[in-house]
Amino acid sequence: MPPSGQVLLSGGTLIDGTGGVPRPGTDVLLEVDRIVAVGDDATMAAGPEVVRLDVGGLTVMPGLIDAHCHVTFGEPASNDELFFHRPQSTSMLLAAFNVSKLLRSGVTGFLDPDCIFDLGPALRDGIEAGLVEGPRMRAGLNALLTASGGTAGRLIPDHGQLGYAHVVGGRDEMVRVTRQQIKFGADWIKIHVTGSLPHTGGEVAGWSLVELRAITETAHALSTPCVAHCRTAESTRLAADAGVDLIFHASYLDEPAVEALISSGAAVAPTFTFLANLADHGAKVGAKADQVDIFRGEISATADMLRVAYDAGVPILCGSESGFSLTPYGHWHAREMEILVEAMGLTPLQAITCATRNGAIALRQPIDSIGVIAPGARADVLVVDGDPSVDISVLGDRRRLRHVFSRGRSVDLARPWPERSPLAGEKVGMWSTELLTWDRVNP
Ligand SMILES: [Zn+2]
Repeated sequence: MPPSGQVLLSGGTLIDGTGGVPRPGTDVLLEVDRIVAVGDDATMAAGPEVVRLDVGGLTVMPGLIDAHCHVTFGEPASNDELFFHRPQSTSMLLAAFNVSKLLRSGVTGFLDPDCIFDLGPALRDGIEAGLVEGPRMRAGLNALLTASGGTAGRLIPDHGQLGYAHVVGGRDEMVRVTRQQIKFGADWIKIHVTGSLPHTGGEVAGWSLVELRAITETAHALSTPCVAHCRTAESTRLAADAGVDLIFHASYLDEPAVEALISSGAAVAPTFTFLANLADHGAKVGAKADQVDIFRGEISATADMLRVAYDAGVPILCGSESGFSLTPYGHWHAREMEILVEAMGLTPLQAITCATRNGAIALRQPIDSIGVIAPGARADVLVVDGDPSVDISVLGDRRRLRHVFSRGRSVDLARPWPERSPLAGEKVGMWSTELLTWDRVNP
């Protein structure tokens, strides 16, 4: 790398992330953390020490921004494993090991909305300081829940902290914990608005509008946005009315919820990927069959109204919910774009904009300052063998990534993919998968 750090990507087809048509034969000039120039200007602005890369026949595009990725979860197969089987120290080692996989699969920025223990901000700072190799990260601390819990039933305590959860009760505690999280470095406040009560099917909202407002008003007063998990139409409407800035899932959207999204200006990261992975491939890895129809139905019941919201200008972001056994790190970050094309009818270029330019919202950066290829934008750039404007699925195939530039620096893609062995005590074995009844052995 020369002192100027300049790299000229020469002769590629440019997809700039704004939704504009691909431009063949368009040069891009990068330097450390800045795109200097695009097109003929790039060739003219290149200094004598520029490193010229011939990328003719390849696609040049912005790095992906994953708006929903749990980098500290460590790919658990169950809530039990996520909540109880990892000490803090091991969890941090795992997170540092896993986060480099994001970068090497084309993710140059991501939002980790909630973490186990208090790992998120520390990992983010470690990446920024160069201790750990990883993409740009924005981090939340624990997700805020009420005593009705979240998606882990009775594993969630009635109050206090466990795993990714911080259970808060009463306005004073909600305000205090929100301020405390911001003090300790949270970029976002995550609210788990819906959860599944152990005795009911589906998820229900565990928060009132007044309670949600206590969080959003406190966070906004300290210049911090809020992100909410909402898997019903009612909760999406509630969260949007309360001023939540980014909504995950927004499942089963209806007209009032879409109206609330439009008038509040909230963005949505539907995060269909986890549902689609379980529905399409779960059987291959032993997932429970009874969830397949539910999850497939949730996508189809959400996509049409989400399209209405998209057409009305609601920003849609791409999130993968990577961090579980069904969404391991480095494998599924591009799949959300495929689902937006298939289920919502977006064009591949529109879907790419959701995963790049719109990702600036998750990173708390001004639109068009990151996630686009334009002079002055941050230098997070992919070079891909294939044409994602025709076949969006090429972005999910890591073998097609020719170059990843993060902050203007080339990421070494030639190294072997990170592999590891199980840690001592990492997985707790089951005694059996079925009951050993007397009849079973005495037919
Ligand atoms: Zn999540």
